[in-house]
Amino acid sequence: GKTDVTVIGLGDMGKALAEAFLAAGHSTTVWNRTASKADDLVAKGAHRADSVADAVRASEAVVICVLDYRAVKDVFEQAGDALDGSVVFNITNGLPAEAKEAAALAKEKGCAYIDGGIMAVPPMIGKPGAFVLYSGESQAVFEDNKPLLEVLGDARFTGTDPGHASLLDLALNGAMYGMLGGAVHAMAVVGSEGIGAQDFSTSLLIPYLTGIMGIVPHFAKQIDTGEYTVDVAATLAMQQVGFRNIRQASVDQGISSALLDPMQDLMDKRVAAGFGSDDFSGVYEALKLEG
Ligand code: NDP
Repeated sequence: GKTDVTVIGLGDMGKALAEAFLAAGHSTTVWNRTASKADDLVAKGAHRADSVADAVRASEAVVICVLDYRAVKDVFEQAGDALDGSVVFNITNGLPAEAKEAAALAKEKGCAYIDGGIMAVPPMIGKPGAFVLYSGESQAVFEDNKPLLEVLGDARFTGTDPGHASLLDLALNGAMYGMLGGAVHAMAVVGSEGIGAQDFSTSLLIPYLTGIMGIVPHFAKQIDTGEYTVDVAATLAMQQVGFRNIRQASVDQGISSALLDPMQDLMDKRVAAGFGSDDFSGVYEALKLEG
């Protein structure tokens, strides 16, 4: 039969997770601090647990998705000794260090622990394109539960270090915010001349950003080898000058350059250190904090 599952935390994300498990035919038990958030799910066939301990005891696998690790600690405390023998998948967003702490706490409680990072928004859960990164405990525990986890999205095990999935999640989302921040900034600059964001994004922004992604493998190779002078596409010294125009045009249009300024600083630093004839990827070195 299909694995029974408990979902703890029924915010926007937890609710989507529980709905996906229900839709896939898994017997699903739910608990939320504010109990009324379980009502819709119970109407759809979920079992309501009255306490964290009951919720944990109800199923073979426990998925936790609460706001932060303070909330995770509260949940662990309320579980008491009920976690003994359980398999916990904590896919709450947090730091690698917090994931490692939670793994240590789980060990004390006698449960297997796999941490995770959800690379999707709630409407994407259970649909193509969603994926979830996992790490911790063992590959075997992951594989045993993979059919269950695949209900949420492509399930990827990234290693036994419980902090690893979180590191990858935060790195990917750092890139996402850089890109989305850049997109919103560009809309603001053209918007200052009355150009609609929808027209602009369809006709220019999306095609440009999509095409530009093609340079990433080239940069990745330069970064892996530490050779930023090989097959230079455009020198950093040239880009440093051009970047000043991007920044100034923004300010001239009455749009903040706050999202651009840190990039200018990195380029200036790298050129000043004598690397102006390298490729852009050399800013990788300038990102490393000293001491
Ligand atoms: P919500 O703010 O919608 O829900 C937060 C949940 O945490 C609620 O169920 C809340 O309970 C619970 N909670 C908060 N504090 C405690 C506590 N001390 N004890 C017990 N439960 C507590 O957040 P989301 O559901 O959107 O997000 C949940 C996690 O998923 C977060 O870590 C988030 O970063 C991550 N995530 C979310 C994405 C999204 O797009 N929404 C995308 C990827 C990851 P109560 O109802 O009682 O307040």
